[in-house]
Amino acid sequence: MLLRHTPTEIKEREALTVNPAKTCQPIGAMYAALGIHGCMPHSHGSQGCCSYHRSALTRHYKEPVMAGTSSFTEGASVFGGQANLLAAIDTLFTVYSPDLIAVHTTCLSETIGDDLNQIVGKAQEDGLIPPGKRVIYASTPSYVGSHVTGFSNMVKGIVRGLPEKSAAKSDKLNIIPGWVEPSDMREIKRLAKEMGVPVTVFPDTSGVLDNAMTGRHEMYPKGGTPVADIVASGGNKHTLALGAFASEEGAKALEVKCGVPFTTLDLPIGIAATDRFIQKLSVISGKPVPESIADERGRLVDLITDMQQYFWGKRVALWGDPDQLVALAEFLVDIDMRPVYVVSGTPGKAFAERMEKVLADIPEAKCKNGASADMFLMHQWIKNGKVDLLMGNTYGKYIARDEATPLVRVGFPILDRVGHTYFPLVGYAGAIRLLERILNALLDHKDATCPETQVELTM
Ligand code: SF4
Repeated sequence: MLLRHTPTEIKEREALTVNPAKTCQPIGAMYAALGIHGCMPHSHGSQGCCSYHRSALTRHYKEPVMAGTSSFTEGASVFGGQANLLAAIDTLFTVYSPDLIAVHTTCLSETIGDDLNQIVGKAQEDGLIPPGKRVIYASTPSYVGSHVTGFSNMVKGIVRGLPEKSAAKSDKLNIIPGWVEPSDMREIKRLAKEMGVPVTVFPDTSGVLDNAMTGRHEMYPKGGTPVADIVASGGNKHTLALGAFASEEGAKALEVKCGVPFTTLDLPIGIAATDRFIQKLSVISGKPVPESIADERGRLVDLITDMQQYFWGKRVALWGDPDQLVALAEFLVDIDMRPVYVVSGTPGKAFAERMEKVLADIPEAKCKNGASADMFLMHQWIKNGKVDLLMGNTYGKYIARDEATPLVRVGFPILDRVGHTYFPLVGYAGAIRLLERILNALLDHKDATCPETQVELTM
């Protein structure tokens, strides 16, 4: 085992992934589909896959997640899943009456080679899709990419199926928000409203996966982007794709299909990335930044200034999704923390290139992404050079326990805490919350490990 070697003897592991820092593509596709109002996600594969995808989302979002499955058995595995999917489309429209069905594939249906374009065409020919209803689809083979790739593929599927080209352009902007929490999508809409900029955010899981308790089960909660708004997005002025990994491909597809130009930005996490987001909204819409937003930024700057001595020089290990890690690492560098280890299970050269720039002033930083960039590797790095803080999903809690290091839970999945669906991390207000959590984690740890020291904040 690698851990028995002394630090200098550790060899690069190539053939094995241990505790991956990612999950499977269809989970991302299902999450994106839930961001359309009246949509029923459908998993084209075995029941086990669908149960896993639904339970992964339910455990993170603490809400019931509805989805159909093609329920493959041995027969479908040998002869293909067309008959199962046609029966499923018929049943879903007849019994559950969604506005649209969003089908994604699984490892099994991709290995068989099922052609969703052809099967959905046959469903149309056979009259299984009622007038005014739609079926969209995305290929999401989980042996490549990650849940982020699945989200991106479903956004492309939404663009392939819904927006319509329009000669007249409206003043509205499209925002593809990337894989963020429902609370973040709500915050992105609030910031745009505060700026006076009309936007269509899609997909939008606010009001779907952070729903109010009414005492009645709603098969289709009132949130999610209305299909009509996505159809009209082809006539909007511009698209902002937040996050190169989750959103850029969808924005590109919309440009090719409907001629809507796009700009890719980082997720607006932290001060610099939020500045760029607000600035871009202002430039594209021609609207000035209102005082209320400048005040929000000012409060964030005040907190950073007051507490800077507690952040300075602290070594941080980060893991999770590439779009979040880029923005988060940049923010940590901005407040003089040192993100020394960064790991993402999502592959893609663009991540390494971007992180190299973000971490240029941290010469000791190590960054890796792809299948072999796993939690085991992260733990090895930490054993060879301690950190002051861990930031990532729930799966880091075992490292936190082993190394007696505080953990701030961010990203997906968070299975053992609440709050992430209600309180945003994007925008200036989100950055204040992030700083509060970082500061509290560091100070709680100090309280616990040095009980004789009275922690009292000084400015
Ligand atoms: S078989 Fe593939 S699609 Fe199904 S749960 Fe496993 S990784 Fe995901």
